[in-house]
Amino acid sequence: MMRPITRPVVDVYQAGQACAAWPACNHGRHLQLRDMSESLHIVCPHCHTTNRVRADQLGAAPDCGQCKKPLFDGHPVALGETAFERHLARTQIPLLVDFWAPWCGPCRMMAPAYEQAAAQLEPRVRVAKVNTEEAPALGARFNIRSIPTLALFSGGREVARQAGALGQADIVRWVRAHLG
Ligand SMILES: [Zn+2]
Repeated sequence: MMRPITRPVVDVYQAGQACAAWPACNHGRHLQLRDMSESLHIVCPHCHTTNRVRADQLGAAPDCGQCKKPLFDGHPVALGETAFERHLARTQIPLLVDFWAPWCGPCRMMAPAYEQAAAQLEPRVRVAKVNTEEAPALGARFNIRSIPTLALFSGGREVARQAGALGQADIVRWVRAHLG
């Protein structure tokens, strides 16, 4: 079956590319790069320092300038309230968040699939998880009514949400469908 052709919904634009719907789109801030040698702000998943990484080096296993650990290690990063704010505000790649809780059976069932999806989605997307028991203010702020809920942020704004557990392939498909 052929996939339907959809309007490109990209998070990072190179010069000459544009989102047809801007500024009526819901993509948050658009980031215009003149070329792929420009830098993006990437927040370290370990020490939460903001790093500048050339766009064309994202896939080359960059390390954090502060703590020297990998900026992408293929695992979801667990974020509390403070770290979440930092990633949301500063990172210039899309942020995928799994809102979950330890007592939630479907959340625990989805965890291995989410791990595998993280390995596939990085470094284009920062993959994170928020324990709503440890960070109840985030669950309230984003009006999370059921868990697990996946939320995709781009440019500091939520662009898509999905309630209920998904398998690995469906997580990846869902994210890519919203990022073009
Ligand atoms: Zn670091």
